[in-house]
Order: sequence, then C-alpha cells, then structure tokens
Amino acid sequence: MSAIHPRTARLLGSLSLAAAVVGAGNPEAHRPAVDHRPTEGWFGRATPAVPAGSPTLGHSAPIRTVAHSGQCIALTFDDGPHPIYTPQLLYILRRHRVRATFFLTGIQCEKYPTIVRRIADEGHELGNHGYLHARLDQMAASAIAEDIRRADQVILRISGIWPRYFRPAGGVLTPSVLQAAEHSGHPIAMWSVDPRDWVVGRDATAITAVVKDTVGPGRIVLFHDGGGNQPRMLEALDNLLDFLKNQGYQFVTLSEE
Ligand SMILES: [Zn+2]
Repeated sequence: MSAIHPRTARLLGSLSLAAAVVGAGNPEAHRPAVDHRPTEGWFGRATPAVPAGSPTLGHSAPIRTVAHSGQCIALTFDDGPHPIYTPQLLYILRRHRVRATFFLTGIQCEKYPTIVRRIADEGHELGNHGYLHARLDQMAASAIAEDIRRADQVILRISGIWPRYFRPAGGVLTPSVLQAAEHSGHPIAMWSVDPRDWVVGRDATAITAVVKDTVGPGRIVLFHDGGGNQPRMLEALDNLLDFLKNQGYQFVTLSEE
C-alpha cells in the first residue's frame, strides 16, 4: 500500500501551494484548447470489459452506486481538466449549488493546475483517472499501477489531496486493472448511468433523455468534461440539474458520508 496519510497529504499540499504561488501568472487560459488524448470513444464504447456482477477475482468490487439513504445521486466528470469546458462546467455546478466528482488525468492536471485547485476549492471531489488515459487492456498490472501512482502524485502535488477513487480509462476492468488499483490503494468507481455524452454529434436531447430514463436513487452518472462533444453535455446538464432537483434529488460526491 502506498497511500499517504491525509495529514501528510495536507502538509504536502501546503508546500505545493507555496510552489504554486511562485508559479503564479502561468497563462493557462491562453493555451490552445487542442486535446488529442483518447477518450472512452477511442475504445469504441464506455462499457466495462467485465460486466456488472462478474467475479472480481478476490479484489473488492468496483462501486456502481453510492450508498445513501434518500434520493441522492452522484455526478461524475471524466478526462479533465479541460481549459475551456471545465470552467464552464464549474460555473453551471456553482449556479445550481451542486457538487460532483471529477476523474482527472495526470497529464491534464499538469497542463492546467489552476483549474485542478479551483475544482477542489469549490467543494468537488477529485478522483484518479490515470496519468495518460492509456490503453489499460494492453498493459501489465505493474505498468497500470505506475500510471495510477503518477497521477496520484500529480494530483497530490497540485491540490494537496490524495484522490480516493480510481476510475480506469475506457471503463476497462481486466484482472490487471483490478490488481493495480488494489495495489495502489484505490477502490474503483464505475457508473450506473451512461448517456454516452462523448459521442461527437450526439445532441443534448439524446443525452438528457438517457439520464432521465435511467436515473434512480444512488446512481452514479458518467459525463465527460474532457474529450469531445462537451458543449452538448453542458447544454444537457444545465437542463438536467433543474429536472433532477424538481424530482427531489440531492447531489453527493462519491466519498460523501
Ligand atoms: Zn476517460
């Protein structure tokens, strides 16, 4: 186990904060918004390689719901931070007073550390989505664990937070992924509502319809603030938050007790 004690994490966080002040003025917002990283779409689907309910070979089972009494749901956003769309998403979430969980890739965090800190400062939970968003189905457990560890270190250095949950890129759940997550001290968080918002050309109505049709108490919803098609996702989300609130839903982060 390589997990860092929360107190150590906070200490390291305050050190990294000092380093961040030194590096203040970095014009992240002016960097081009070109993003060539693979998203779930590159794998052809966002469906787990191991179906729900399959044996997990002795490892703790990935979560697909949150255990909360009452009408709660957890919104999750993968593949960020994105220099354009993550700030827009944060604005929408703040306006609706909704907190969510962000599964960040290490490489994007290194490009946009200010956005990472803003996500945390606004009360959202940070999750580990690997460093490179690599093809995990083609990697050995040791290489996957190294990719997870690298993302942990980057997120910790930038935000002072040790992410609790790991979500594998592409939703790949091979025995090697399960072993690597266990070895690096992360429970795996999957999802139970997938509007396939990353599919380029998919409109907001289609994204909205899937969420409305499949949402339920305790469900975890998968969205993407990195990758492709984010404008349609944001458009859908803005309407969905009103709908879900009117249905009586409360929004929780994955680790919220
Ligand atoms: Zn992803």
